[in-house]
Amino acid sequence: MSDRNILVINSGSSSIKFALVNEDQDEFLLEGLAECIGFPEAVVNWKENGVKKSMNLNGADHAGALAKILPVVQEVSHGKLTGIGHRVVHGSAHVTKASLLTPEVIKVIEEAAALAPLHNPPGLMGIEASLAVYPELPQVGVFDTAFHQTMPEYAYRYAIPEYLYTEHHIRRYGFHGTSHLYVSRKGAEMAGLPVDDSCWLVAHLGNGCSTTAVVNGESRDTSMGLTPLEGLVMGTRSGDVDPSLQIHLHRTFGWTAQEVETMLTKQSGLLGVSGLSNDMRTLIEASEQGHERAALAIEIFCYRLAKSLAALSCALPKLDGLLFTGGIGENASLIRRKTLDHMRIFNFKLDDAANQACTRGAAGKISLDGHPLVMVVPTNEERQIANETLELIDAIAK
Ligand code: AMP
Repeated sequence: MSDRNILVINSGSSSIKFALVNEDQDEFLLEGLAECIGFPEAVVNWKENGVKKSMNLNGADHAGALAKILPVVQEVSHGKLTGIGHRVVHGSAHVTKASLLTPEVIKVIEEAAALAPLHNPPGLMGIEASLAVYPELPQVGVFDTAFHQTMPEYAYRYAIPEYLYTEHHIRRYGFHGTSHLYVSRKGAEMAGLPVDDSCWLVAHLGNGCSTTAVVNGESRDTSMGLTPLEGLVMGTRSGDVDPSLQIHLHRTFGWTAQEVETMLTKQSGLLGVSGLSNDMRTLIEASEQGHERAALAIEIFCYRLAKSLAALSCALPKLDGLLFTGGIGENASLIRRKTLDHMRIFNFKLDDAANQACTRGAAGKISLDGHPLVMVVPTNEERQIANETLELIDAIAK
């Protein structure tokens, strides 16, 4: 086993998700979640070599929580912690790759908070706490937006007045880049194709959902835009709606900007249509038992996903395959089948047995020979963040 371990941190407003990743080992040495940070019931749960453990955090803040997690990390890594990789959602157009968390890069994250108000501020809380607790270690930011910085201007610009782009940085950025990058690389490896000569449609379907067209290892277009609200139907997010909807709700019913935002981000998507749940598993079970709104939510989800994939095919010179990932993409054979049923002119044809066998981390081809390749490729954002962190540390050491 390599001596090199990376602690991967994904910080939310009241949570810190973490994993200790060894360079050579598939299994993480440590995987955990600190929850209710800043509240009396703050607690950290983690899995260490398959054993579940838990510790009370006594109302700790982010720094307090990390200070308690560190000794566990040090013990499990036998004091061999090489660096820390932080997931950062928005790096605006300034960040095109994983970056050392210098004061300049932290300033970029602060400035991009206006574009990702729900994600960047809690991410910064984790970064600042981590820099305070582990000042001697190299710490790297890995950005969800970075992978999409290769989109051509005609894909990332909105058709709105130019000054909104030049003065206020309003453009499409794209998200889930770490996952789309990992999955497209892995897909090329699984198909035996060189990354730099392969073209993929990737559907990342979790609580948040996005599609990306990847050409020779680069993102050429993606479904999310200025914020992670654009594009597909998601667990609680609407995805695309007519922008006039907001004006209509305001003008006709007096809704405030905050009310519109809450409705579109927290009360819409699968939850809004079904009136039941944002969880695809629950909806599939309910629709099998005759719940009509759950069935409709699934239909809208799949049709809109198919439309997005078909639209993104415009960014590809050829199609080497379609890759499904994320909790829904990796597990829900029904969603994969229904989506492809809408894409008849692509000539996809699923191997039903293979499609049904791909759940719970099983990867592989689910299409029949003689038809375009479709694969399930489990994502691994922690591994990708650890890899990029190590690559940067090595590059700096040279
Ligand atoms: P993620 O955000 O990647 O963890 O994905 C969460 C989504 O995956 C939720 O909508 C879950 O219901 C869905 N999911 C997980 N397992 C299954 C499954 N076996 N069948 C259908 N959906 C699933």
